[in-house]
Amino acid sequence: MSTLHVAPNKKHDVIVIGAGTGGAAVAARLARARPDLDIAIVDPSPFHYYQPAWTLVGGGQYAIGRTRRATSQVVPAGVAYLEDSVTAFLPETNAVLLGSGEQLNYDFLVVAAGIQLNWKAIEGLPETLGKNGVSSNYRYDLAPYTWECVQGMQGGVAIFTQPAGAIKCAGAPQKALYLAADALKKRKVKVDLRFHTAAPALFGVPFYSQALDKVIALYGAQANLGSNLVSVDGPAKTAVFESVVNGSKVRETVSFDFLHVVPPQSAPDFIQNSSLADATGWLDVDKLTLQHVRYTNIFGIGDCTSTPNSKTAAAIKSQAPVVAGNLLLALKGREAAAHYDGYAACPLTTSAGKVLLAEFCYGGTVSPTLGLDPRVPRRFYWWLKKSFFPAFYWHILIRGRNWASLHKKRDFPEQLPEIRA
Ligand code: FAD
Repeated sequence: MSTLHVAPNKKHDVIVIGAGTGGAAVAARLARARPDLDIAIVDPSPFHYYQPAWTLVGGGQYAIGRTRRATSQVVPAGVAYLEDSVTAFLPETNAVLLGSGEQLNYDFLVVAAGIQLNWKAIEGLPETLGKNGVSSNYRYDLAPYTWECVQGMQGGVAIFTQPAGAIKCAGAPQKALYLAADALKKRKVKVDLRFHTAAPALFGVPFYSQALDKVIALYGAQANLGSNLVSVDGPAKTAVFESVVNGSKVRETVSFDFLHVVPPQSAPDFIQNSSLADATGWLDVDKLTLQHVRYTNIFGIGDCTSTPNSKTAAAIKSQAPVVAGNLLLALKGREAAAHYDGYAACPLTTSAGKVLLAEFCYGGTVSPTLGLDPRVPRRFYWWLKKSFFPAFYWHILIRGRNWASLHKKRDFPEQLPEIRA
């Protein structure tokens, strides 16, 4: 059923698909710049989530209720809000189909539908999530269970996993490990800690990955690179991992007391199955202008696009002015001129109290906001993560307000600085 919260209209100047981080931020910018525009935002979820704090919830450092608001509260004033899902694109006729069966027409379309979490891709996982010591910070209802499990541990084996392929906030699987390791260390409980990642390194940017090798070693946790979780047996408390040894796939069954799972992720099915997708299913946009490569009246933002940046809310901070700016130019019949530099940031919570703030642009160019060596976990960055970023998110980013971007390429000595988690 579609709920129309503002005046009904079958045709809008701009339709925004998704009222998450990217959709809310762009709609707010457009509504501020051009209050005369008829903008509609479509999203089936009654709630908007501040997902970056779920890591803190899983580490016992944040109240889950503070991470959720009604979607109607984040839709900008004057923007029509339809509580419905887009099921198909009709780009040749500038229309989208909704779950309700309705068709909506647009002059311009912004696709901000986020990333799809494929829980079922791991055999046995859906039926054991939230019980048998199996949790995930990637869901609102499960993040508190992560902390419950960590608090209850008196020993045994705790495993943290990261799947193959692109995921949102690629540092988050590790953040769960470090916050658990820190809490256990403070309680003086000895647990066999293991990190299994399908990736060949702890982080995609070698500059930061080398520092994280040090952090994981400081906790005495075992890093299993190239190791992919394929199935879970909750009641038996066993997990099966697949890796490639001498060119052949090898499977190993491991017992656990606690298992933190990050599911494989992909572009949402309705994008993958459309003519708007690239060969790998993502919304096919130009990585600089964020304009669709075939349909110039369509733009994309956030986790659902093909841009080769790290999928984060921090990236959306840099993308939102580009999408809004280029769409406003397009409304005047002008070519896209604003460019996104690939900026992303990942605040790696190395303990409850310190963060290593990894900031980088396209190509892994190290681009911190401050001149401090970003490989050093710092208390100031913890304050940013826990207090400043949430306030920035709710009051600046998704409200479409301007904020100066001060990040830039900076050089640091090759040698690792002293790192204490
Ligand atoms: P979302 O905010 O997920 O919004 C997508 C919206 O689209 C949703 O509201 C959804 O309901 C809607 N939608 C889906 N399908 C349809 C459809 N068919 N029709 C209409 N609407 C639809 N980022 C950081 O910057 N720093 C961090 O520290 C950080 N940590 C994270 C930790 C965790 C555990 C997680 C899960 C994420 C983290 N992120 C972090 C990532 C960040 O939250 C996301 O990158 C960001 O929210 C993506 O915004 P988005 O608009 O692309 O997608």
